[in-house]
Amino acid sequence: MIPAELFRFCPRCGDARPADNAAAVPYRCGGCALVYYFNPTVAAAAWVSDPAGRVLLIRRAKDPARGKLAIPGGFVDAGETADQAVRRETREEVGLELDAVQFLTSFPNLYHYREVTYPVLDLVFTARAVAPEAAFPGDGVSDIEWHHPAAVDPGEVAFPSILESLKLLQK
Ligand SMILES: [Zn+2]
Repeated sequence: MIPAELFRFCPRCGDARPADNAAAVPYRCGGCALVYYFNPTVAAAAWVSDPAGRVLLIRRAKDPARGKLAIPGGFVDAGETADQAVRRETREEVGLELDAVQFLTSFPNLYHYREVTYPVLDLVFTARAVAPEAAFPGDGVSDIEWHHPAAVDPGEVAFPSILESLKLLQK
């Protein structure tokens, strides 16, 4: 269920949403005229490289996609830049500081968590690890692996957006 489908009543005045507008965007309340938008959530992730040209993969410890490979990243907090978010998430997940953070590409993604399917816009960066040997499996990570981009198995990759950005690195 996408977030727009969860709003069966106006969150301000409690008016029931007409059945014929069950997931219309934006939500428009007939009772109090509230207009509410459902925009995608923003996430930021990075392909972090070491001096040998290898990239850092994380093995996800939690659902969704538990056991699959991903790259450091996560949801951008309100008030944060994408650059700040990817540096914070990388610090939390693998303990690394980043240098030369550069935008690579973006992809729409769907993130399934419990009963809700969140539309997400993934912003993907490339970056260099300041001290790659210091990487460790941190928050939500069961293991870390360094691979040359060409050696990453596409069947192991957690999300289509990560796979699409991997193809750019493999060119
Ligand atoms: Zn209302």
